[in-house]
Amino acid sequence: MDWEEFARWGERAAQFGADYHEGLRDRPVRPDVTPGEAAALLADAPPEVGEAMEAIWADFLDIVPKRLTHWQHPRFFAYFPANAAPVSMLAEMLVSVMAPQCMLWQTSPVATEMEGVMVDWLRQAVGLPEGWSGVIQDSASSATLSAVLTMRERACDWSGNREGLSAKGALRVYVSEQAHSSVDRACWVAGIGQDNLVKLPSVGAPTFGVDAVALRRAIAEDRAAGHVPAGIVAVTGGTGIGAWDDLAAVGAVAAEEGLYLHCDAAWAGSAMICPEIRDEMWRGIETCDSVVFNPHKWLGAQFDCSVQFLKDPQQQVDTLKIAPEYLKTSGAEVVNYSEWTIPLGRRFRALKLWFLLRYYGLEGLRARMRNHVAWAGEVCCALRDHGFEIVTEPILSLFTFRGPGDDAAQQRLVDAINADGRIYVTQGMHAGRRVVRFQVGQFDCTRDDVMMAVDVIAEISGRQ
Ligand SMILES: *Cc1c(COP(=O)(O)O)cnc(C)c1O
Repeated sequence: MDWEEFARWGERAAQFGADYHEGLRDRPVRPDVTPGEAAALLADAPPEVGEAMEAIWADFLDIVPKRLTHWQHPRFFAYFPANAAPVSMLAEMLVSVMAPQCMLWQTSPVATEMEGVMVDWLRQAVGLPEGWSGVIQDSASSATLSAVLTMRERACDWSGNREGLSAKGALRVYVSEQAHSSVDRACWVAGIGQDNLVKLPSVGAPTFGVDAVALRRAIAEDRAAGHVPAGIVAVTGGTGIGAWDDLAAVGAVAAEEGLYLHCDAAWAGSAMICPEIRDEMWRGIETCDSVVFNPHKWLGAQFDCSVQFLKDPQQQVDTLKIAPEYLKTSGAEVVNYSEWTIPLGRRFRALKLWFLLRYYGLEGLRARMRNHVAWAGEVCCALRDHGFEIVTEPILSLFTFRGPGDDAAQQRLVDAINADGRIYVTQGMHAGRRVVRFQVGQFDCTRDDVMMAVDVIAEISGRQ
């Protein structure tokens, strides 16, 4: 492909993007497709001879858009959002045309330096102390794994990487029962093991935060049993119902016990740009050693973009840095972010943050989140008025409810809502009961989009 042809197709791709987004409201959020349908439309073997771009494009239009679940659909109320503000898409287009690999400062000077500045912009935006730094990762799972590995190395005197873990005793990590499964997987991969991830009860409504008394007791019992406490993972905005820990209380335990403290705020961290929210939910955040949140969820930076803030990055660098001869750089002191993370290769993720934060400003982003929180509250009230049981009240923009009938009826309700296609929700479990989970967070949704959910849910549950 020559560059003149590239430019022509680039224009068509940009036009497709605008048309696709403008037409999203007319599409079902989740497509009506059967497993295997898409694969059956693709050739069984790669072509021996190249094809015309026209043919590739026509097949793209025919096969792909109608078989996608539309995460940017304004009536997407499932999971958590994976937002992509238009301006962040433009930045990603520019990144993809320059296609740099940003493992070292010298492989990408401006990307490395912009990453440092964007992490600092976000540090200020969410009210973390001066002096913290951080790194942009692909996912919260990777950041949490990095933090758990750091806990592990710190707890075994920085010898685990060299000696392995066989002589280290049982390294223990503590977390609320409301934590995300990425904490379990981090413990699997770090060689700590599921049985050494101690899950603690929550204190119940309204925060469903971890019971700090139970936490302190579990650590004491482990020490008495000869185990090696390594660290604590705190939760701000759990995936199921939005649970959030009292960080000041958890931080006090971590300080007394000398344990590394990581906070998983993958979803809710974005909302901490609102001072009134962080004053409530993030009191004590400065007691953490590591904090992760995903600007690719609620904030609007296109997937993938997960920021890990670190009080003292050297501990993570001591855990993860490896510098074979071919990666050594000479000359001035520079930051090589691949020494802070598990993968060597890195994307240029800072550009979309720079575009996003400049275009909307923090006030523009705060206004969206405050709307989402308010509209989720309105939907919750309206469903209650329709006789639905609200199982967990809104935490930020997430709540859970039940319609009439047993657990199986709740699943049937979710399936019927999603087959209808006007909105998309997911199910969850709370206190042993099946619930319908509802969150508001799509970047450009309107109040009408959100309130339509009430009509759809009421109509479909009446029909069942
Ligand atoms: C989404 C989420 C994760 C996982 O995020 P990834 O970036 O997909 O790894 C972890 N914790 C919480 C609380 C989440 O909401």
